[in-house]
Amino acid sequence: MTDSVLKGAQTASSQEVIDLAERVGAHNYHPLPVVVSTAKGVWVEDPEGKRYMDFLSAYSAVNQGHRHPHIIGALKDQADRCTLTSRAFHNDRMGEFLDRLCTYTGFEMALPMNTGAEAVETAMKMARLWGHKVKGVENGKQEIIVCEENFHGRTISIISFSTDPEAKEGFGPYTPGFKVIPYDDAGALEAAITPNTVAFLVEPIQGEAGVCVPAEGYLKQVREICTRHNVLMIADEVQTGFCRTGRKFAVDHEDVRPDAMCLGKALGGGVFPVSAVVANQDVMGVFFPGSHGSTFGGNPLGAAVAIAALDVLDNEQLERKSRELGEYLREQLRGIDCPRMVQVRGKGLLNAVVFEDGFQAWDVCVALKNKGLLAKQTHGNIIRFAPPLVITKDEVDHALGIIRDVFSQIS
Ligand SMILES: *Cc1c(COP(=O)(O)O)cnc(C)c1O
Repeated sequence: MTDSVLKGAQTASSQEVIDLAERVGAHNYHPLPVVVSTAKGVWVEDPEGKRYMDFLSAYSAVNQGHRHPHIIGALKDQADRCTLTSRAFHNDRMGEFLDRLCTYTGFEMALPMNTGAEAVETAMKMARLWGHKVKGVENGKQEIIVCEENFHGRTISIISFSTDPEAKEGFGPYTPGFKVIPYDDAGALEAAITPNTVAFLVEPIQGEAGVCVPAEGYLKQVREICTRHNVLMIADEVQTGFCRTGRKFAVDHEDVRPDAMCLGKALGGGVFPVSAVVANQDVMGVFFPGSHGSTFGGNPLGAAVAIAALDVLDNEQLERKSRELGEYLREQLRGIDCPRMVQVRGKGLLNAVVFEDGFQAWDVCVALKNKGLLAKQTHGNIIRFAPPLVITKDEVDHALGIIRDVFSQIS
């Protein structure tokens, strides 16, 4: 068929767009039945002109809001200069980007990639190489400890240590070298460590698991155990980083310094895939030319976007806004009279409402959508509320009006 069903995105209806995507796209997602064609700040609009508040923020990739003018300006400016060199040559933006990222995170070195999963893969390769070359573990014996209910991405190695059957089953054979322990259990970590353990990979708050916040003190204990056993503590801050939880990074809530952090999502300002691993020289120094790479990693377009994305976090005080509006949002959500709601949890603007076991939140998400608010359920009975951090208090109140309206009708 040479004639496109869509005569240009401008004229296609939501239903036409959905039908086409369902027909030719692999069914690896089950999206809400809504089409976004334009977006600005906290707001998105469908082809029919109906407006919605975005309370998912592309899983926290849009912390700075949709199409922030400073970030779009940087993108356009760089697009007119140079977009890609590969790492075979230097480009004049990557160094500046990594320097900014090191200053922002407090680490000495950074390795740029594109997606979050690549950042996690990079951190695991770094840990295995460090384990062999520095810690002296025999190559092939390196072990990495991870947590139940983790989410670190979708590559073969990463799903090899997933405990989610949907993510894992049918994709074998699985990559060896991982040990899974319960989350929020420092004793289990201590017990799982062997002389071959090179790293503990952990989300400081488990986002995909349903915004699971560990007990206060857990990350401090993890830090102490890792230090005592000469095991790298690697924090996956892909979702929790860049002010999402009301601090620059979720580990900051406990004043913990991991040995490395995996970063992504909001590092690209909702515009371009940019990810990175940050660490100090004593760990990151294990890489040598040829040991790792990515054609697009560190590209000047992504670097320019990431610099602007970091600017916005600082210029608009998104750390403070996320903390204050997050507290307000949780307090207001807790006040809603809805007998089937059992818990409101989160930090900053990464929040979740938990309904009773077995409750199907899909219908609630559809009802929220029909009233103009986009949010997505996870694990069936949990809805995540994570708007762009540029949201105003008035906009939070507007959203709360919709949420109250819908929740009051849940029987
Ligand atoms: C989203 C996410 C990833 C994977 O990022 P992609 O860009 O989708 O590959 C990894 N870790 C965490 C904690 C995430 O939330």
